[in-house]
Order: sequence, then structure tokens, then C-alpha cells
Amino acid sequence: MKIGFIGLGHMGAPMALNLLKAGHTLSVFDLSETAMQTLADAGAQRAASPKAAASGAQWVVTMLPAAAHVRSVLTSEDGVLAGVAKGVTIIDSSTIDPASAREFAALAAARGNTFVDAPVSGGTGGAEAGTLAFMCGGSDKAFARAEPILQKMGKRIVHAGGAGAGQAAKICNNMLLAISMIGTCEAFVLGEKLGLDHKKLFDIMSAASGQCWSLTTYCPVPGPVPASPSNREFTGGFATALMLKDLKLSQQAAQNAGAATPMGAEALQLYALMAAKGKAGMDFSGIIEMLRGVL
Ligand code: NAD
Repeated sequence: MKIGFIGLGHMGAPMALNLLKAGHTLSVFDLSETAMQTLADAGAQRAASPKAAASGAQWVVTMLPAAAHVRSVLTSEDGVLAGVAKGVTIIDSSTIDPASAREFAALAAARGNTFVDAPVSGGTGGAEAGTLAFMCGGSDKAFARAEPILQKMGKRIVHAGGAGAGQAAKICNNMLLAISMIGTCEAFVLGEKLGLDHKKLFDIMSAASGQCWSLTTYCPVPGPVPASPSNREFTGGFATALMLKDLKLSQQAAQNAGAATPMGAEALQLYALMAAKGKAGMDFSGIIEMLRGVL
């Protein structure tokens, strides 16, 4: 099967490599020559534009930074919609706002194509291992066509609802993640001031009602969870800049939908402050350093 793949960055490159490993033919495009070369070395065909990558493909996957990039890759003169055959499914795995995803689904439908918004969770490690979780939005027909392709790049593929529902689920989840991480960090900082040992406090909270993913899988103090970025000075992992991007999307969606999300708004302000202190590249659990007053 031929797949057009556009956007070969930190996430897109390993996802595309997994599709190649699964035996698909890939036609790829990225603005970065280095990214193109990596995929060409692995056996992908180089395309000169998104339009060329999409032409002759049965599926098109995009993995781009934000909605503006997706809009340009889909709708420009040299874009996917100008080159794609009828009946092709376009899967956008970028994290963007639900309203733009619905707009792209309508544009695709108007040309006889189906569109699935399929943002991911699992980070670069999940992209490399092929264990990403995909949250999908689109019609039953579109989802059924996208699922076998997504299975080659991920482990958990969930159909959240109609167009835009995948993006909606993604930003709800990441808003909760930001809030729970800040809460977990505050608990450790208070524990430190009260003279509690990190490991003791971890053992108590992880078996009590404070238990959450931010504590037991991504612990913001070194020791209790050896794989968490706090053990390597908050390098790698999920950058503050990306969390800030997702919080902006969730606040924009909350405003449009009339939802009260005061904790999400506060989390956005705290991550914006962290980024303003020059720490946009630090893992998001590094916010514990700001709460300690050392950033
Ligand atoms: P990235 O910046 O590493 O990669 C984006 C790629 O898109 C780059 O190679 C860039 O050259 C390319 N690009 C930009 N504009 C283009 C255009 N017009 N035509 C062709 N290529 C173009 O970003 P990433 O980390 O791979 O993230 C991609 C998406 O996945 C983002 O929406 C991000 O929020 C989301 N995401 C990232 C992570 C993560 O851990 N990195 C986790 C979950 C979700």
C-alpha cells in the first residue's frame, strides 16, 4: 500500500519508519533536507511537495507543528488536496484545535476524501517503539479505513467520536495532566518544607487518594520512578513549550465552548511563566524547580 507522509520531525520520522518496517511504500515530504534524507536512506521515496507525496497514495498522514502548517500542507497550490485521488483517507496526527480539524474534515469530504484527526500521546519514545495512543475523530467509515495504518504506529487506537473529537480528547487529557503535575509538585515541595523524605511521601501518596499518573509514572522528584525526567535534570521527556501549546489550545476551546476551566487557566499561566524564565525546553515536570523558587 502506498502512503504519503508529510512532517518528518521528532514524532513523524519514527512513525514513518514504523510504516516502512511494516512493508508499506512511503512517499515523504518535509521542509527539512536532513529529515528527508533520513527517510530516503531507510527506503522511502522523496516527494517534491505535499501534492506529489499524496499523488497515487491510498492514505496520507500529516504530523506537523500546528494548525497553520496543516492548513498550508492541505490547501496550498502544491498541497495534499490538489494531488490526492478520490476515496483516500487523510490522517492528521498533529495536535491542533478541534475547530480546525472539523474544517479540514469538511474540506476533505467536499473532494470525496475522508479525514481523521488522530493526535497522539506517548512522546518520542512511543513513536519509536510503535506504542503510541491515538485519539481519533471522524466518521465510522473514516476511522475503519485509518485504523489498520494507525495500528502499525501505535498500541491503543480509540475512536472518540465525530470530526474534531480526537483533538478534543487530547486537549482535555493534557489539561488534566498539567494540573495534576503542578499539584503533585506542590505536594512534594510542601513535604520538603515539612521535613518529609521524598520516598516515604511517594510510598504514602501512591497508595492513598493522591495517587495519579504524574506521581506514579512521571514522578517529579528523583528516585521513586527511575525512568522519569527528574532523574536526568528534567531533560528529554515532554517539553514545557509543548505543554504550553496544548494548554493554549484547551483554553481557546474552553472559551469557545463556554466551559469554566479555572485550574487549566492557572496551569497555562504557570507554564507561560516557566517558558518566560528561559525554560521552554525543560521537561514539564521541572515546574517543581519553579515552585521551589530556584528557577
Ligand atoms: P517537530 O517540530 O519535531 O516536527 C515537525 C516537522 O514538520 C518538522 O520536520 C518540520 O520541518 C515539518 N514541517 C513544518 N512545516 C512544514 C510544511 N509546510 N511542509 C512540510 N513539513 C513541514 O514536531 P514534533 O515534535 O514531531 O511534533 C509534531 C506534532 O505532534 C505537534 O503538533 C506536537 O504538538 C505533537 N506531539 C508531539 C509530542 C512530542 O513529544 N514531541 C508528543 C505528542 C504530540
